[in-house]
Amino acid sequence: MQQCEICHTSFTWKQISKSLWLAYKPVLCPNCGRRHKIQFLSRLLASLMIVGPLFVLNSLSPFAGTGNFIFSVLIVVPAVLLVLPYMMRYRLA
Ligand SMILES: [Zn+2]
Repeated sequence: MQQCEICHTSFTWKQISKSLWLAYKPVLCPNCGRRHKIQFLSRLLASLMIVGPLFVLNSLSPFAGTGNFIFSVLIVVPAVLLVLPYMMRYRLA
């Protein structure tokens, strides 16, 4: 998990996932309050991780059937949202 660049306090999963939901809002360190902005590459990765699997699943859906498609989305999207905060990198703003 990402740490504060000043005091090395770890950000929480909740903080980072909230930042993702609020269109990559900067994260404040829970200890020293310094603002950290998401890195461009993390932002790109987040978009790819969310859109990519949906795109692949969507192109497979004619073969897999609509029921399977919905089922896969219900598995893939929460899994991506769960894992993403661990992969995001922030830099001191
Ligand atoms: Zn800090």
